[in-house]
Amino acid sequence: MPTHKLDLLPNALDSLAEALAKFKAGDEGDSKAYKFAVLHMAHFIELVFKHHITEKHPLLIYKDPFAPKLDRNKTITLWDAINFINNEDGEAVSKEFRTDLEWLKRLRNEIEHHKFEMDVNQARSTIGRLFRSVLEFLENHTDIEVGSHIPDETMETFKVLSDEYEFRLRDALKEAEEVEEANWSDPSDPDPAPARLECESCGNPTLVINEASPTGYRCTMCGNEESDDLPATCDICGVVTTQGELVYWETEAGQSEGRCYYCSGQYHADKDD
Ligand SMILES: [Zn+2]
Ligand SMILES: [Zn+2]
Repeated sequence: MPTHKLDLLPNALDSLAEALAKFKAGDEGDSKAYKFAVLHMAHFIELVFKHHITEKHPLLIYKDPFAPKLDRNKTITLWDAINFINNEDGEAVSKEFRTDLEWLKRLRNEIEHHKFEMDVNQARSTIGRLFRSVLEFLENHTDIEVGSHIPDETMETFKVLSDEYEFRLRDALKEAEEVEEANWSDPSDPDPAPARLECESCGNPTLVINEASPTGYRCTMCGNEESDDLPATCDICGVVTTQGELVYWETEAGQSEGRCYYCSGQYHADKDD
C-alpha cells in the first residue's frame, strides 16, 4: 500500500524550509522570490493539513474511503481537509484564517497560470498572518513542533514570520532606514536635524522625520510623535538644542514659549544655590 501518510510530514517540512528561504531572498531584495515563497507556503499548508487528517485514519487521504474498490489515485484536496477539520471542530479554522487561505488559493492559481499580479507588501503580510494561523492550529490540534525542524539558515526568517511583533518591527526598521537614507544631512549645516532617533515610547530606533506629523517626527513602529530628543530652538536666544532641554512657559499672549537653560533663568538660579 502506498504510504502517503509517511511522506506527507517530511514533504511538508521541506516545502516550509523552501518557503522560508524564498521569503528571506525576497526580503533581501529579490522581489521575484516572494512568488516562490507563496507557492511553497501553499504546498506546506496543504501537506500539513492532509497529514493531520491521515493521523485520524490513514484511509482518509483518499477521496472515497468507503468505495467498494478504493481508488488510490484520487486523494483529498486542501479544502476537503479544511472542511473535515471544520466539521470536527467549528472553532479550529477561523473566518479570517479561511479568508487568507482563499487568498492563497487564488494567488497560487494565478501564479501557476502566469497571470498574477502581486502586491508585495500585501503578499508579505498575508503570508505572515497565514503562517501564524497555521502554527497556532498545529500547536492547538497536533503534536507537530514546526520550530524544531527549521534549518539554521532560515531560523531568523522563521522567527520573523511566526511572531507578529518581530514581523512589524522588521518592516518598521526597514522603513526607518529608508527615511534615514533619503534624508542625508548637509555636512555644511552646523545644526542638522537628525533624520532618525530612538523612540522613547517603543524603544526602537524608528522615530524618523515625517512631514505629516505636527512635531515633524513619527515612529514607524508605534506611531509616537513625541520625544525629548527632538530638535528645538530657544524662543529667546535662538540656540539649537533639544526639546528636553527647554523649559516651557506660557506667554502673556497665551502662547507656549520654549526657553533654554540660560534664558529660563535656571542657570542663574543654579549658580546662586
Ligand atoms: Zn515607537
Ligand atoms: Zn536661550
